[in-house]
Parts: sequence; C-alpha cells; structure tokens
Amino acid sequence: MNENKDYMIRAVAADAQIRAFAVTSRNLTEKARQAHNTSPIATAALGRAMSGALMMAEMLKGPHDLLTIQIDGDGPMQGLLVTADNHGHVKGYVKNPHVILPPNAQGHLNVGGAVGKGTLTVIRDMNLKDPYIGQIPLVTGEIAEDLTAYYAQSEQIPSAVGLGVLMNKENTVRRAGGFVVQLMPFADDEVIARLEKNIRGISSVTTILEEENTPEHLLDRVLEGFEPEVTSREDVSFFCNCSKERFERGLILLGKEELENIISDGKDIELKCQFCNSAYNFSTDEVKKLLPRTQVSAAGAETQTDSEHNDSEQTDSENS
Ligand code: ZN
Repeated sequence: MNENKDYMIRAVAADAQIRAFAVTSRNLTEKARQAHNTSPIATAALGRAMSGALMMAEMLKGPHDLLTIQIDGDGPMQGLLVTADNHGHVKGYVKNPHVILPPNAQGHLNVGGAVGKGTLTVIRDMNLKDPYIGQIPLVTGEIAEDLTAYYAQSEQIPSAVGLGVLMNKENTVRRAGGFVVQLMPFADDEVIARLEKNIRGISSVTTILEEENTPEHLLDRVLEGFEPEVTSREDVSFFCNCSKERFERGLILLGKEELENIISDGKDIELKCQFCNSAYNFSTDEVKKLLPRTQVSAAGAETQTDSEHNDSEQTDSENS
C-alpha cells in the first residue's frame, strides 16, 4: 500500500460471489493533463475513462489484448478515446481538450454536459481478425453510469462502477481513481441487497480517496462487511507506445504519390501522436528515403496495404 503511487488491485469477496477492481490514478491523470493541456472538465472525463479502461482491460486474458473506450457525444467536448492493455498501461485523449462549462447543479465539474448525448463503444481487441465491439447509448455522459449500463446491457453482468477525479485549485489533479464491482450469476439475494446498500451509502470515489489514497481503502468502503480478499496488485501508468518508426510505417502506407506531394512541397512535416501529443518531425530528405518502401502493384499503380488495424497513431496530421 502506497498513497503516492498509482496502482490497481483485483479482489474477491463473499465466497467469490463478488469480484472487484479498484485503482488510484492521480499521477497518470496528471500526466495526461500535462500532455494534452486539458481543461478541468476534460481532465475529469479523461481521468475517469482511463481508470475505467484500466480495470476493464484487467479482465482481458491475453498478453496482447487491448481494451478501448470510445465516447462520441454532441456536447462541446465531442468525445474521447482511451486504450488500455492488461499490463497497467493506458493512453487516451479527448477531442476538444479546452472545453469549459459552468459547474452542474451539484456544484461539480459538468462532465455529462461536456459529453452530451451520444454513444459509448467498448472495443476488446483480442488479436483475432475482428475485435469484439459493444455499443450502447450514453446514459448520463458522466462515464461511470455509462459503463455500468454497458455491463448490464451489453454483457449482462450486474456491476457497479464508480469513477472520480478531483482537481486542485490550480487545476492540477488532486485525486483520481475508481472501482468496478461485479456480481457473479450465483450471488445470493442477501449479498446483492447488502452490496446495493453499500453502493447507495458511499459519498464519492474522491471523498473516500481523500480519507486514504489507496485502492484497498476504496474497496474496503465499497465492500464494507464483505472483507474483500486482494488477489493481485499492479502498477498503472500513462504510457504510449508511439515511436518515429511507427510514424514512418504510417507515412509509407500513404503511398508513393502522397509522399511525392509532401516532397514537392519542400517543407518538413510534423506528425503528432493523438494519444500522447508527442511530435515527430520528418525532413523532406527523410521522406525521400521512405519512397522505395512504398508498395507498387504489378500493374504499376500505387496500392495501400491493409489499413492500420491497431489503435495507434494517425498519420494525417497537418503539415507544419
Ligand atoms: Zn504517443
């Protein structure tokens, strides 16, 4: 247990009738805030979604499996996308990072208002040909309620999801974290009733983390009376696997003609990773060196190999 570290725990309770996950994510949410220069509402939305994705990815089995949460909304933030693996790595961005709105009726950051109406899509990429995709209409846009509804509607697993981000006065992240608690199909009525009572009784994730900033404390409160048994602990972090080589591959996929256009412009190009905002510069000489690696079909026409299936970088960023 360490109050200054971001980490995630997995636990069971009530003779395995309940499984639970909890995470603290202050540092990784602050890192994302700095990378994307997000406003407080955007930071809250991103932090909540990243905490949720980390716990949902922890349920995946394969070492290369990925879980993506995509939210598309008609509010001023427009939506967000976060991707986590099951080694505790998460990355993500919001579409409009600078959105600012007045507080909601409860005096909190109005994440639901910033998201608006739209859809929640959960993509589980398990290295099969097609990823598993589940989609539901957003319930509130506050993210935790939407993920709870996703589990009920799309996976038929009764779940309670709590997510929170609390900001400091100077707009840095003070607390962040969350929990996912799920009932197994054989859970008995007594367990269900007690869990529901617990969930109704808790104030907020960040209030609990203010008492003690550990996932253990969060689960102790959510699962009070159940004596949860922690079965694993894992460090979590904001981590992006982008690199200049990956962007090179993206440029090559644009094809010969597109690269020749870039070269004839005679200007260096800067490509930015959407997930972590890292910038990669390519001089025209560097782009020229990529030309022989573009694929040319037997008929002599330019072809693009199959489009990028993975989650990563976009290569259509603006020329600088
Ligand atoms: Zn990146």
